[in-house]
Amino acid sequence: MSAPRPPLHETPLTALKGVGPKMLEKLSKLGLRNVQDVLFHLPLRYQDRTRIARIGSLRPGEETTIDCVVEQSSEVMRRRRMLLVRVSDGTGWLTLRLFHFSRAQAASYARGVHLRCFGEVRPGPNGLEMVHPETRRVDESTSPLEEDTLTPIYPTTEGVHQLTLRSLTEQALALLNDGGRVTELLPETLRARYRLDDLAAALNDIHRPPKETELHLLADGTHPAQRRLAFEELMAHALSLRLLRQQTQRNPAPEIRDTGTLARQLVDRLPFRPTNAQDRVIAETVADMRRAWPMQRLVQGDVGSGKTLVAVCVALHAVEAGFQAVVMAPTELLAEQHYQNFSTWLEPLGIPVAWLSGKQKVGTRRAALEDIAQGRARVVVGTHALFQTDVAFDDLGLVIIDEQHRFGVHQRLALREKGARDGRYPHQLIMTATPIPRTLAMTAYADLDVSVIDELPPGRTPVTTVVIPDSRRDEVMERIRGACSEGRQAYWVCTLIEESEVLQAQAAEDTAARLAEVLPEIRVALVHGRMKSADKEAGMAAFKSGETGLLVATTVIEVGVDVPNASLMVIENAERLGLAQLHQLRGRVGRGTAASACVLMYHPPLSQGAKDRLGVMRESNDGFVIAQKDLEIRGPGEVLGTRQTGMVQFRIADLGRDAVLLDDARDAADAFLDLSEIDPTPLLQRWLGDGVRYGDV
Ligand code: ADP
Ligand code: MG
Repeated sequence: MSAPRPPLHETPLTALKGVGPKMLEKLSKLGLRNVQDVLFHLPLRYQDRTRIARIGSLRPGEETTIDCVVEQSSEVMRRRRMLLVRVSDGTGWLTLRLFHFSRAQAASYARGVHLRCFGEVRPGPNGLEMVHPETRRVDESTSPLEEDTLTPIYPTTEGVHQLTLRSLTEQALALLNDGGRVTELLPETLRARYRLDDLAAALNDIHRPPKETELHLLADGTHPAQRRLAFEELMAHALSLRLLRQQTQRNPAPEIRDTGTLARQLVDRLPFRPTNAQDRVIAETVADMRRAWPMQRLVQGDVGSGKTLVAVCVALHAVEAGFQAVVMAPTELLAEQHYQNFSTWLEPLGIPVAWLSGKQKVGTRRAALEDIAQGRARVVVGTHALFQTDVAFDDLGLVIIDEQHRFGVHQRLALREKGARDGRYPHQLIMTATPIPRTLAMTAYADLDVSVIDELPPGRTPVTTVVIPDSRRDEVMERIRGACSEGRQAYWVCTLIEESEVLQAQAAEDTAARLAEVLPEIRVALVHGRMKSADKEAGMAAFKSGETGLLVATTVIEVGVDVPNASLMVIENAERLGLAQLHQLRGRVGRGTAASACVLMYHPPLSQGAKDRLGVMRESNDGFVIAQKDLEIRGPGEVLGTRQTGMVQFRIADLGRDAVLLDDARDAADAFLDLSEIDPTPLLQRWLGDGVRYGDV
């Protein structure tokens, strides 16, 4: 052992041979700033140059080395000039195919010459071949094989050669193995409990896997060394969210202590009984609100599972305890619908509901604001604009956020801050529009408690989904005629790829006119984003009351709209929509007891991705299943939306592959927190960087 060195995260890259100012700049593009960074710059894949394979046992796709003798070589002219060299090693033969070669090179492949070739084995027209392998002549002076570890291939950037990265990692490992410190941040007890390799050993293995390592483990990312690092990363993320949660819980919140009388009165007046799942979620939520710190609960429920009733009951508990409750919806249309529902339910109980919208007349809005500030309004319904304006509450106890597709941690925090008053933070209940796959919920929402409404109200029949080309539009219109003649109602959703609201509105208007023409006996209503609020409301109201049989709309009706008598949904250009959106739209039907159908109309040809999506929709009605498929097809970043990709962009971990590690990583994070003498900061810094400091938001 030599003299103590500075830890590797404080050792500059210039300590490594071959790193000057120019290289320093290039390496910074790879995010490499110090020697420790080099060690955490992990190989993308590996090559096996440690052994010589027999040609007779080669399989296509393998990257390997062979020792062979040239049998015959010929220059041929197919579409282009090429050199075909037939080689053998006594166990079989193979063709080397070269496109670029000089005279001299061609001549060097003379019959009888010994060669060592490294390349990928591919199926060719006449058996296996290697295209442009790395070749070397073998003579007495050739060493058997100089590599005694698998060869790492690193992610790189322009101007940084693989050999440079190999040299840098080689040197970094040498420093590591000679007293250089990469701090082991996982306590011994946790490493033992979860059978994790020691960090230095893992880094050695991952950069220079010994030759007996099974390549397929590395390729799958399931090698213990990779697992060790992925585990540490997942644990760091879990830890950051746990810390955030602890932080939240240190704030005081209004304690909601009531007898539940109001909520019972409401339930007694309903024409149905809450499902067991609804009862359970309400109870979990109410228990949270009795505490002196703010609730942070996520309610997951599939479309139609009855999240609104949960929201109303929970709001009633807060109101009975003497606090105001706010309900926020993502669209004007949904907020409006909630306002109507809440008013119908709450006003008979003597509870005034206020409505706040960005589009209200000044006078109406002023009056509403005053009702809210004076505390006359006990429940307030509105869009997210609610918190972007100067709304003052008398005594806000609960914030309910409905039908949120994505809700990044930063947004959650911002809302919490805005609702705070006199240092007291209101309780927060977030209701998802679409179920979130478990793996994502565990990583992106680990700071929240989660309740799941895992049951639909009784009597629902699953929606039958068909996928048909738009050349059969006439047939689809006939289906609408059929549904409406039986007293049912239908939606026709127009989608356009253009972001332009004007074009979308135009398309919806044209379609509505066309449908009215073809179906003269049916009254058609129209709703799109360009309409005046009052007209939109009128259109919705007419459809809700059953006065109009067909509602033509843009995707503004995507979430929340609830008209149980509607039993047919037609979605035009369904191939353009994502799974979450299709599932949401389809969720507008199948809300009553009548058998419902959804027609996904597409414009051929279908891409493979679109085919997959429409296939998933045809096969499943279960939002949790669809969400999982969506995750598999698109990956976590896309599913959660760009806003929070920052928190799920893992460096090593992969949510698909490492899902099995999640439970343990989260338990380990909890255990880590229990060992309160350990400072979590270095672990967070290693994996989340300086940018994300949840702990002190
Ligand atoms: P979502 O979870 O999609 O927001 P909603 O709250 O809009 O679902 O509820 C869908 C429909 O189911 C509404 O018409 C609602 O009145 C009805 N509903 C809710 N709970 C029950 C229940 N327990 N039994 C019967 N119908 C219910
Ligand atoms: Mg809803």
